[in-house]
Amino acid sequence: MLFIEPIPAFRDNYIWVARNNQYAAAIDPGDASAVLDYLDGEKLELIAIFNTHHHSDHVDGNLELQTRFSCPIYGPENESIPGKTHSLAEGSRVDLPELGLKLDVFDIPGHTSGHIAYHGNDMLFCGDTLFGCGCGRVFEGTMAEMFASLERLSGLPEATLVYCAHEYTLCNIRFALDVEPDNPELAARQAGATRLRNKDMPTLPSTIGLERKTNPFLRCAIPAVAAMAAKHAMAKLDSPLDVFTALRIWRNTF
Ligand code: ZN
Ligand code: FE
Repeated sequence: MLFIEPIPAFRDNYIWVARNNQYAAAIDPGDASAVLDYLDGEKLELIAIFNTHHHSDHVDGNLELQTRFSCPIYGPENESIPGKTHSLAEGSRVDLPELGLKLDVFDIPGHTSGHIAYHGNDMLFCGDTLFGCGCGRVFEGTMAEMFASLERLSGLPEATLVYCAHEYTLCNIRFALDVEPDNPELAARQAGATRLRNKDMPTLPSTIGLERKTNPFLRCAIPAVAAMAAKHAMAKLDSPLDVFTALRIWRNTF
């Protein structure tokens, strides 16, 4: 039976492991030792590594894990990924019969220009693009690219489980409450996420449905969100993209 487990790494990364009782695949293994401890403890064989983008906190464990398990490394075709054996882009599909896992690849540029997401089995591995109640910084791509990438993910079925690569949810909710102080779903989400973090448990996975109800970056067309973004930017914002851009700039200094 396929299930997903988080391996916490560094300060706030999650390395997600898709596994059954025999095999495992690691998504964005930035830290080899954390993954090796987990695999050895659970007596699992690593059969694949998936990378969403090239940042070191996502790929630095690749080579050590590949040396030990000789596993394929899947990553974006347009980024330099240590040990990459399979280049993926929009429309690629990866089938792992050992795990019963079938993943479709989306190009979601913005955080980096080659960033990809993996979607399948009603799950989304979205790296540093979509976070719990927030989104990644726009480092390499454009605001328009990031906005389009988030809209794309937002259009997935509401029940889709969202596996983000960082635990940023509580801080993101505080920002979201500045944007939408009267959103009752946000207050409820803050209470739930606070309970989880107090027990040192992940707030993830989230769902697309919950993100659509609470994540300001997916709510740029909502009048209350647009009004607050305009007020903070002290500018007239003519489109959801303008609203997104204003929110992302605001969040950078929050
Ligand atoms: Zn990153
Ligand atoms: Fe990261």
